[in-house]
Amino acid sequence: MEQQQVIWYDGELVPWSSAQTHITSYGLMLGIGFFEAFRCFETKDGPALFRVDDHLRRLHESGHTYLRTFPYSSEQLKAACKEVVRANGLSECYLRVLVFLGEGANPATTPFRTAVIATTAGPYVNEPDANGFHAKISNVQRPAPSALPFTAKATGQYLNASLALIDALAGGYDSAILLNQSGHVVDGYIHNIFAVRRGVLRTPPVSSGALAGITRDTVLRVAEELDIPVEVEDILPAELYNADEVFLTGTQAGIMPIASVDRRKVGDGKPGAVARALSAAVDDVVHGRTQAHADWLEPV
Ligand code: PMP
Repeated sequence: MEQQQVIWYDGELVPWSSAQTHITSYGLMLGIGFFEAFRCFETKDGPALFRVDDHLRRLHESGHTYLRTFPYSSEQLKAACKEVVRANGLSECYLRVLVFLGEGANPATTPFRTAVIATTAGPYVNEPDANGFHAKISNVQRPAPSALPFTAKATGQYLNASLALIDALAGGYDSAILLNQSGHVVDGYIHNIFAVRRGVLRTPPVSSGALAGITRDTVLRVAEELDIPVEVEDILPAELYNADEVFLTGTQAGIMPIASVDRRKVGDGKPGAVARALSAAVDDVVHGRTQAHADWLEPV
């Protein structure tokens, strides 16, 4: 992660190295925190935040799901994002809004702290080879929604993802795909998942336990515009083995082809035509080269 000059922290811009929290913070001890990650893209009208309103709505919905209220509204956080991009002199960047529990007497009453962090690159990238990731269907399942509500983006939930990833890496793979307790495919460890079979684009429903990813939604909307048939339905592991294409999506990864699943080559093992067409179309949208989704771009 490349260090920048300033971070927005609890209402003010502070030098990067001063954005600290006490070691006893409940955000560290108990993993109680919520976050969003999204991108700022260069457009012909200058830098623009991509789908920032959707990300900030999801942040507040995550808090609501966990019976928590945050100190700053979406409007305040949006203004903070713009301030951080400008103050660091960035054009294209990766932004994270983190709301976590600080130090205090009791995790039910301790106030949240809020940071907006801009970097030029995202964390957690495992470099795939040129053709894409080699993924393992993990033995680590997504927890039942009654145990952890996966529609929320909460920091502690990522222990489950981390376990699946570390296990996949130890087995010589470079990414993990997770199933739910019914044996249906849910997602990648920090990505949504899509399969293409005979020209039809398929992705599991949110009811499978998948996060309602903003990139997932962008891909679904752009696919419709490209006249690619779409089905949002449960997917079984063997469908991935026999798909023509499988790819992961996320703010961090974009559209990331999977070359193999459990050592079965997917299609011809190379990025497929549907993934490539969608990548090109989404790239035009995020850089404002088409008017189709101008409302998704918020000028900084
Ligand atoms: N699923 C999970 C579990 C994730 O952590 C992420 C990353 N936020 C995604 C999907 C992708 O979501 P988005 O496209 O909104 O970044």
